[in-house]
Amino acid sequence: MATNGYDAIIVGAGFGGATTAALMAKRGMKVLLLEQNAKAGGKAMAFSKGAYTYTAWMVCCAPTVDNHFETVLNELGMRERVELVAPGIQGSTFKNSKGEWVVGPQDPTPDPNNIFDWLEVPEEARADALTLLADLTLMPPEEIAKLDDISYAEWLGRYKINKGLYSFLIGPVADGCFMVPVDALAASEAVGTIQQVFLRGGGVFAKGGIGTVAEAFAESVKINGGDVIMKTKVDRIIVDNGQVTGVMADGKTYNAPIVISNAGIQPTVLKLVGEQHFDKSYVNYVKGLVPTLAMIGVRYFLNKEVITKVPYGTLFTTETPWTMERWIKAKDGKNMPEDITVWYEVPSNYDPKAAPPGHQIVLTGIWSPCDPEMSTEQHEIWWKKIDEMMFKVFPAMEAAIELREGYSTTDVSKLTRDSVLPGLGGECIGLSQVIGQAGAYKPSAKTPIQGLFYVGCDAAGTGIGVHQAIDSGMKVAKIVQQYHLMHEATIS
Ligand SMILES: Cc1cc2nc3c(=O)[nH]c(=O)nc-3n(C[C@H](O)[C@H](O)[C@H](O)COP(=O)(O)OP(=O)(O)OC[C@H]3O[C@@H](n4cnc5c(N)ncnc54)[C@H](O)[C@@H]3O)c2cc1C
Repeated sequence: MATNGYDAIIVGAGFGGATTAALMAKRGMKVLLLEQNAKAGGKAMAFSKGAYTYTAWMVCCAPTVDNHFETVLNELGMRERVELVAPGIQGSTFKNSKGEWVVGPQDPTPDPNNIFDWLEVPEEARADALTLLADLTLMPPEEIAKLDDISYAEWLGRYKINKGLYSFLIGPVADGCFMVPVDALAASEAVGTIQQVFLRGGGVFAKGGIGTVAEAFAESVKINGGDVIMKTKVDRIIVDNGQVTGVMADGKTYNAPIVISNAGIQPTVLKLVGEQHFDKSYVNYVKGLVPTLAMIGVRYFLNKEVITKVPYGTLFTTETPWTMERWIKAKDGKNMPEDITVWYEVPSNYDPKAAPPGHQIVLTGIWSPCDPEMSTEQHEIWWKKIDEMMFKVFPAMEAAIELREGYSTTDVSKLTRDSVLPGLGGECIGLSQVIGQAGAYKPSAKTPIQGLFYVGCDAAGTGIGVHQAIDSGMKVAKIVQQYHLMHEATIS
């Protein structure tokens, strides 16, 4: 059975797909949004369990000021539908040279000297440290664009800074924002995004989970005359003679001259469309794209409030920044370093209704290989490491646990992205942050097939995870509208 009459079909209601569908519908296009899950949000979906509400895992967004969440919600007239919060404090905790875990300055705009004291920057190194921070914060876009071919590690190496500041600029900052080893991360991507956070703040959440923003976007598609079908997995994107004509899902055909895939570039090309529709060189390019690493973690449901005030934080030491070499040694879990960087989020510290009174949920995450086929025994090695790190810093936590729930790359892949290449599928962000795939080399949202586009963290966007997906959604909506109008104007 075929269903006609859409200007565009969007495959997937992650933040990329939901943004683009909502904006195109609001701007007058007739769209269909198809999503395999019961609700929108993808890798940042809102969850609930009993009286607890939270985002699927540790998800902390940025920037706080002048962010895309508000821009898109405002354009859609949905600003009141979601309660965004930016508490302005965080709990980054550094193990100093005495082995003490010390929380950083809590002031949202701290005096650099307080940061330097915390990170044990010697007096004589402070001038260089300030130069670095000023360059990072004030570098103009045309200078940032020149950093596509060097790594963030190489760029940082131009400054003489102590290990404490170096590990801060990697551990809590770059490792968490990009999920790429510092020597593989494109400096342009790193500097541009970190600059956004330094100038416009970090730590945006939504009451009920950030996924509620994507739910609002999907709702807006319906309000503006589009269709949204949940729990429907697209099995095939149909291509005829180099032109997309629609999709097949649950035995039905949906027709449209434009299809935008939020399913990931590799699953789109290698599975949903099929290699046979592309040139061999494009298929090889797609197969060779390298994703970010993944995040694995534990959700702790606690019978008392153990972590007070801060909505999120990081545990890090001078030894925890990941490099490619360090990651290759650690990734099978057998040579785990003593300390690793842990990110955590406490939803009830920004949303009092996120946990029953007197209770708390703590979401944690650490780096992991992307492989969705990892066994539970392998997951347990990483989950135990998180226990060890969290209990060292928050000794009251262990006794307060009512429920400990691990999540893994298997869950991430099942929820969001099919595994179509060995070892891939559970990645945290996408394909466009490593050297050679960022800046001018970023995968294009346009494909070689007429009418087929990508949206989401694989193409077109910049910034941190969720914000990057929305950035891509905004850009792709514009590209596709132009394509649609040009075709209406010249061909129809
Ligand atoms: C553990 C973890 C922690 C993270 N922490 C942070 C953080 O702290 N801060 C931050 O900003 N970002 C974080 N991120 C990253 C962020 O969540 C992602 O970068 C962003 O949400 C990706 O959005 P997307 O639109 O690119 O893709 P996705 O979220 O992957 O969305 C793809 C959508 O397409 C759907 N789909 C796929 N295939 C099909 C199909 N065949 N048919 C129908 N539907 C389909 C999926 O179900 C999904 O809804 C984290 C991610 C993970 C996994």
